[in-house]
Amino acid sequence: MATVAAELRKIRDKVEAGQRLTFEDGMTLEASNDIFTIGELANIVRERYNGNFGYYNVNTHINPTNVCVYKCDFCAFRADLDDKRAYTMDRDQIIERAKQAHDRGATELHIVGGLHHKLPFQYYVDVVKWVKEAAPEIHVKAYTGVEVEWFVKIDRKPIRDILQALIDAGLGSLPGGGAEIFHPEVREQICGAKANTETWLEVHRTAHQLGLKSNATMLYGHIEKAQHRIDHLMRLRELQDETGGFQTFIPLAFHPDHSRMDEIPKPSGVMDLKTMAISRLMLDNFPHIKAYWVMLGIKIAQVALKFGADDLDGTVVHETIYHAAGAETPQEISVKEIRRLIAETGREPVERDTLYHKVERSEGSWRAGDAIKVTALAGVGR
Ligand code: SF4
Repeated sequence: MATVAAELRKIRDKVEAGQRLTFEDGMTLEASNDIFTIGELANIVRERYNGNFGYYNVNTHINPTNVCVYKCDFCAFRADLDDKRAYTMDRDQIIERAKQAHDRGATELHIVGGLHHKLPFQYYVDVVKWVKEAAPEIHVKAYTGVEVEWFVKIDRKPIRDILQALIDAGLGSLPGGGAEIFHPEVREQICGAKANTETWLEVHRTAHQLGLKSNATMLYGHIEKAQHRIDHLMRLRELQDETGGFQTFIPLAFHPDHSRMDEIPKPSGVMDLKTMAISRLMLDNFPHIKAYWVMLGIKIAQVALKFGADDLDGTVVHETIYHAAGAETPQEISVKEIRRLIAETGREPVERDTLYHKVERSEGSWRAGDAIKVTALAGVGR
C-alpha cells in the first residue's frame, strides 16, 4: 500500500497540473500531518487565483434578534422568548446601527440572527428596508439558508418568492452560515431540527439563479470526522459547478463555551490551518477562501494567509454570535491593524466590497471601483 507521503506526491502533481482532487485525495490530505506540504500546495492554488492580494472589508454586523425556535447544540447565542437575555431590535435601533456603520465607512452590513417564534416575515423584510433607508449605498448581506427556510415556513411561500421579496427590499447577497456539516450522520445530531442539507443547498441554488452571490461555511472541530468534512466540501463544489454563484468559503472553527457541547475542546492550530488548506485544495471552483479572524483568532488567521486563505474578513463591529460562545478576539480591529497583519505576511492589502470590487477612499468617502483582477481563475466556474 502506498504511503501517505507517496500519495501526497501524487496530489502535488495534480495540483501543479491544475487537476481536480477526488474524495480519496481529500482523505489522504486529512490523514497527513505534514501541514507544511499541505499548506504549500494550498498556497499554489491560492496564488493562482488571487495572486499576492490579501483582502479585507469594512463591515458591521447586526443580529436583529437572539430569540430562536431552534436549539442547535453548538449555539451559545440563542435565547428563549422569556429568557432575560432575549432581545429584538426595533426600527430605531436598526436605523441607528446602519447610520453608525455608514459614518464609520462600512461598505457592508452582515445581518443574521435567531428565528423568532412570533415575528412575521415582514419584520425581516423591514430590517433590510430600514437599513437601505438609513444608508442606501451599504451592501446588505443578510439571512442564512436556515433563516430563509424559516421564512418559507412562516410565510408559506416558495424559496424563490421569499428571496425575491428580500431582493425587492434591498438584499444584496446571502451570507454562508447555517451550513454547519451537511452529512446527515452529524447534522441530525447537532442541529437536526433546522433546514436540512438539501434545503440549504436549494436556497443557495435559487439565490444564484436570481442573480445573487452567496458564501458558504463549514463548522468544524466538534463531533464530525474527516470524511464528513470532505463530503461537505464535495457537495459545495458540485453546486458551484452547476451555478458558479458562490464567492467565498469560510471554514468556521467550533467554539464550545456556553454551548451544549462544551465538553469538546476547541480545534487546535494545526487543525485550523489544515482545514483551511484542504478547503482551498478541494474547492477548486471557489474564488475565495476566508480566514475569519473572529473565530480563528487574529494570529492563526494571519498565518492562514499562507495556508490557502486570501481574505481576513472585515473590521467587524458588534459581533455577538461567536463572542457569546467564548471567542476571545476583540469585537473589531482597525483598518491600520488589519493592513499591517496582511502586509507582514508579504501580501498586498486590498480593501474590497462585498462583491470583490476594490474600494477606493478619499477624505471620509468611498467608492467601489473595478472588479479586482486576479491572476487566473482557470478552475473557477468550470
Ligand atoms: S445556530 Fe442559529 S438556528 Fe441554531 S439555535 Fe443558534 S440562532 Fe438558532
